[in-house]
Amino acid sequence: MKSNLAAAAIFMLLLVAGLAGCIQEPGLSEKSGESQDLPMVLPDWKDDVYHNYEETKSWMFETGEKYPQMVEVFSIGTSVQDRELWCMKITDENDTGEKMSCLIDGCTHGDEWEATEFCLYFTQFLLENYGKNGTATGLVGGKEIYVIPIVNPDGREADTRHNANSVNINRNYDIDWGNPEGSSIIDPMGLTGHTFENCGPEPFSEPETCAMRDFMETLHNKNFAFYMPCHTANHALLGCWSCARAPFEMPQRDYDLIEHTFQWVRDHTEYEAGRTQWLNETGGQPMPASGTAGDWCYMRHGVASFTMELSQGSVATHANLTHWMKATLPVGMYMLANAENFLNWRTPDITPIFPEGTPPRN
Ligand SMILES: [Zn+2]
Repeated sequence: MKSNLAAAAIFMLLLVAGLAGCIQEPGLSEKSGESQDLPMVLPDWKDDVYHNYEETKSWMFETGEKYPQMVEVFSIGTSVQDRELWCMKITDENDTGEKMSCLIDGCTHGDEWEATEFCLYFTQFLLENYGKNGTATGLVGGKEIYVIPIVNPDGREADTRHNANSVNINRNYDIDWGNPEGSSIIDPMGLTGHTFENCGPEPFSEPETCAMRDFMETLHNKNFAFYMPCHTANHALLGCWSCARAPFEMPQRDYDLIEHTFQWVRDHTEYEAGRTQWLNETGGQPMPASGTAGDWCYMRHGVASFTMELSQGSVATHANLTHWMKATLPVGMYMLANAENFLNWRTPDITPIFPEGTPPRN
């Protein structure tokens, strides 16, 4: 009888220890316990539903009302035609510890709608799963995530690549600005090999570029971890340098981190990855681009900057939106999961668990 009791007691101890082990699965927050065991859900998105400027603005404010403890919406400046550049700050206001700053934006080129949609889709993914799933909760925890879905509101309204001054905002930053070798796009007729883009009369001549520059300055001393401007449609993650003439030689540490990130994208997503340089096809765009936001952010702030080129093809057809959202989600998750690595220029070696439904690499 006595030995039976002892065996039962040992069994109970093992059971309790086993249960405790379950609760402390890797990736689960110790604070939130069992409520974090729910599977991640993907936003319910439809292929043919895009958000124009006004709809995007409404979406952001409605999301702010729905998640008052998580989302703050504010303007970082105005466009040529006086439209606001709206920004969402996503963070857990109840978490008052020191945080990292992460910046994601879209639609610097106004006709690249998928870039805006990813900003909204990714925001919704994070908010809907925060506090319910350990991985998603960990992605947001300890961070202030700034999302600017439309950097070029006038271009989005007119469905044009350039802003209302016909300037390419992503050639207007003060890095190798105006270099003809880095301010060009492939000639659609294929006659000259390339044509030149309007990079503006001088660096930071455009209000949209100034707004982005000034906003990034506010993050400079706030643990600015990474910057991911979203574009279409080269089907690749692009990294520094993009410009034709780099302002300084990149330290080996930075080069290695960028290369590691490229390889991660090649291994875990359907996207390609690389640098934009003449005849280098690894980034899907075999020519350099000077005056870009990503290069400038790295040069000025020493921040890891990666340009996400969603979708596929030289011109985005605005088809298969839900596929592009799901295919790009792992890249956003990887960036957030490794924010501290990016901040400290350590190898970004964390692969988060992806939600069911994200497409595997072909
Ligand atoms: Zn673009």
